[in-house]
Amino acid sequence: TASIIDGKKISQHIRETIEERVTALKQSGITPGLAVVLVGNNQASKTYVSMKEKACKKHGIHSALIRLDEDITERGLLDKVAELNEDPAIHGILVQLPLPSHINETNVIESIDPSKDVDGFHPINAGRLMTGGDGFVPCTPYGIIEMLKFENIALSGAHAVIVGRSNIVGKPMGQLLLKENATVTYCHSKTKNLAFHTKQADILIAAVGIKELITNDHIKEGAVVIDVGMNRDDEGKLCGDVDFQGCRSKAHAITPVPGGVGPMTITMLLANTVQSAEKHVVDLNLSN
Ligand code: NAD
Repeated sequence: TASIIDGKKISQHIRETIEERVTALKQSGITPGLAVVLVGNNQASKTYVSMKEKACKKHGIHSALIRLDEDITERGLLDKVAELNEDPAIHGILVQLPLPSHINETNVIESIDPSKDVDGFHPINAGRLMTGGDGFVPCTPYGIIEMLKFENIALSGAHAVIVGRSNIVGKPMGQLLLKENATVTYCHSKTKNLAFHTKQADILIAAVGIKELITNDHIKEGAVVIDVGMNRDDEGKLCGDVDFQGCRSKAHAITPVPGGVGPMTITMLLANTVQSAEKHVVDLNLSN
């Protein structure tokens, strides 16, 4: 039976080091600050935003919630981002997605100062991840890499198969694993014979958004299975992309939903915000 990778426990551990970094920053006169922009009334977005705010408060990070009406114009939102780009109390800016359909998400993401883009969605940060430079790494794949490292799972030479190719999870996940010398395969909605590919995975990452897409027949004996999915079952209960019970008997290690990848994502948002504030301090010292 697979061991369970406990995202809550690992994130607790990382949060302790974050707290130390926040304390050190405050001693040098800087309080790390995160601005979260929420447009409209999407219920899931509201939940995510309040979880992010709570986590900031708990760890001494200043959080500013900017709530904007559903019918704000794209110009209005871009102006707000421009203001936050200039705000010295703000080290991280996050615009909660999805945005209302009359607003172009790409324009908004590209308007965020890359040095405050703690979600890591700006093309500059995506490009830096791809070319090996320093930048912000999207929180979900960043959290997964930290989890794998914490569990001492061998990455170098391992075959990692990622199901999903979104800009926020699948694609950056592959880049991070490549950086760790894994052999990376991407699968997606047009992949033929999914199980053929996933069965070869030493490490399988499911980031699709389809309940129990990955079953016992999709994995090989001894695989490490990471479930990114956040779906609702018929009773409204949160569940992942992986048939947890079915895969557990065959896998070496597996993440649960909830309590796996989810807690890590928010923790890495805190880490990115602190990283941004630290960089700010270094830049200040250099210019003095
Ligand atoms: P997305 O909808 O942008 O991407 C889904 C991907 O799955 C696409 O690349 C698509 O090609 C692929 N896909 C669709 N159907 C498929 C199929 N039948 N077989 C193989 N691949 C298929 O979603 P996303 O933003 O990457 O999120 C994926 C899931 O992860 C969602 O359930 C989302 O809620 C969850 N998520 C969780 C966290 C977290 O912190 N735990 C963070 C982000 C996303």
